[in-house]
Amino acid sequence: MKVTLQNVTKKYPSRNKKQPSEVIAVKDFSLEIEDGALIGLLGPSGCGKSTTLNLLSGLQKPTEGRIFFGEDDVTDLPAENRGVGLVFQNYALYPHLTVKQNITFPLENRRGKDKLTRKQMDEMALETARLVQIDQLMDRKPSELSGGQQQRVAIARALVKKPRILLLDEPLSNLDARLRLQTREEIRRIQRSTGVTTVFVTHDQDEAMSISDLIVVMKDGVVHQIGKPQEVYDQPADLFVAKFLGTPPINMFDGNVRDGVLYIGEQAVQRQLSLPDGKVDVAIRPEGFTVNNSGAFTCDLDRIEVMGRDISIVSTHPDSLGECIRSIVSADSIKELSGAKVSFDLKPSKVHIFEKDSGKRLY
Ligand code: ADP
Repeated sequence: MKVTLQNVTKKYPSRNKKQPSEVIAVKDFSLEIEDGALIGLLGPSGCGKSTTLNLLSGLQKPTEGRIFFGEDDVTDLPAENRGVGLVFQNYALYPHLTVKQNITFPLENRRGKDKLTRKQMDEMALETARLVQIDQLMDRKPSELSGGQQQRVAIARALVKKPRILLLDEPLSNLDARLRLQTREEIRRIQRSTGVTTVFVTHDQDEAMSISDLIVVMKDGVVHQIGKPQEVYDQPADLFVAKFLGTPPINMFDGNVRDGVLYIGEQAVQRQLSLPDGKVDVAIRPEGFTVNNSGAFTCDLDRIEVMGRDISIVSTHPDSLGECIRSIVSADSIKELSGAKVSFDLKPSKVHIFEKDSGKRLY
């Protein structure tokens, strides 16, 4: 099912008497989600992710704009008639019901021509349970399951109705690190095999990047960038996106463009740029450095952290805007390090230049 958001805005009235202005939780959001795609809505807490999901589910109505499922305008359609499957962070399973009863629960209250026999419901529950690989656990109660298994039951319960779209709100945040990794792969697999258009909300960039077809990066209700995960990482539209994506985080510097040459301090680090003269923000990914004793960019070496295959060189520079600079280089580079300084060549594709005031990408 194709899903379209058309200039969607959601405002909440202010609860704070001293600040009477309303909260704009989502501002002028337009997006076309292709049938069968998995979209990751990504951003820090308060950026409007959950509100967007609630607008899609019908739990909230937009202040302005329209929402379409396929060609159907669902903006005014109540949640129960939209055919959405919802999965929340806290699973919200019924503790006194078995796994099977939890999964069949959404099917029980169908009436009239949609009414199902017990046998049909059991078959549908089993089919969905197989899909999420919990068919061995049908008679257990939620308290007898691990967190990951409980989340699978919640996903099965959302899928059993054959929803038009599946909405997942931070579905992995209650799981420990290893289960989170496993379960996100699982979500991807389930999504692929059902082909159901899915919107996935997370504040965790790794999660969003690893399983999404498209990510939407939001801040303060505003969409900063929409794109394939790799494109957004490689070509961040602005400083916020550049800083939000990537671990270790991107390294930030004060820079200066003069006659097509980019300087950090007095060091010319990039040439032949068609940019106007002036101050800029420079952001360099940790993997954008190569150790070279005659390299153009020299920093003060602080320490080396061994990461196995790679090493992380921690250094400082007077024009760095962060506490330290982290560069990830191959472990062989350690041979070239001596003394209190370290010099680097910079990989041009890993150097991003942003306008000082607006934060917009220049290069
Ligand atoms: P996220 O899911 O990204 O953390 P939300 O969508 O929950 O963000 O919230 C976006 C903004 O809207 C926040 O500033 C939040 O405080 C505000 N907000 C959310 N729900 C309400 C509400 N019911 N009433 C007033 N403000 C709200």
